[in-house]
Amino acid sequence: MRRALISDFGGVLTSPLYEGLPAYQEEFGVSLEALGRAMALATEQHGDHPLFALERGEISEIEFRARIEPHLDEGFDLTRLRTVYFERLEPNAVMIDFIREVRLRGVRTALLTNNAREWEPLWRSKLPEIDELFEVVVDSAFVGMRKPEPAIYELTMERLGVRGDQCVFVDDLEPNCATARALGMVAVHFERPEQAVAELRAALAQ
Ligand SMILES: [Mg+2]
Repeated sequence: MRRALISDFGGVLTSPLYEGLPAYQEEFGVSLEALGRAMALATEQHGDHPLFALERGEISEIEFRARIEPHLDEGFDLTRLRTVYFERLEPNAVMIDFIREVRLRGVRTALLTNNAREWEPLWRSKLPEIDELFEVVVDSAFVGMRKPEPAIYELTMERLGVRGDQCVFVDDLEPNCATARALGMVAVHFERPEQAVAELRAALAQ
């Protein structure tokens, strides 16, 4: 019997991440391509992807910006981008109601998020009921590892006190789902709230 649910945050418990992206381009006059190029150049220069290092808590947001901004046109403000991004992120009521429902039925619940330390107040404010929904919260930036590294899934299972074959996992990124499957979980690749809820219901009934 699958008796635990491990959920991603961004793009699963919120509006889809890509919905905010065109706004970046409008407000800052910087294309996603330029941002991607700057990240690639920073990766070459420092030997690690700046976002991955930020998410593992290895660098601060200030250092993250210092690595990227030299590769972007003058005047671009990454902090402003983050503020606008979080302002536009909306909670996903369908998923939140579903997690509340299964928690009341006795399913063990954990949130497993790749995030930045400095963003914690921002993302937590989008989900004030977080401690009601989740027994365990694992934030990459505070544990020094990130999805899809197996160790962060193992830590989450250990904190929940469950095995992989007892878990159902949901994430909007397929590589994150692949690790979950390799660890024995049933993984649901989130595409739309109704699709994900139907697949999660079926998986939790197994
Ligand atoms: Mg996500």
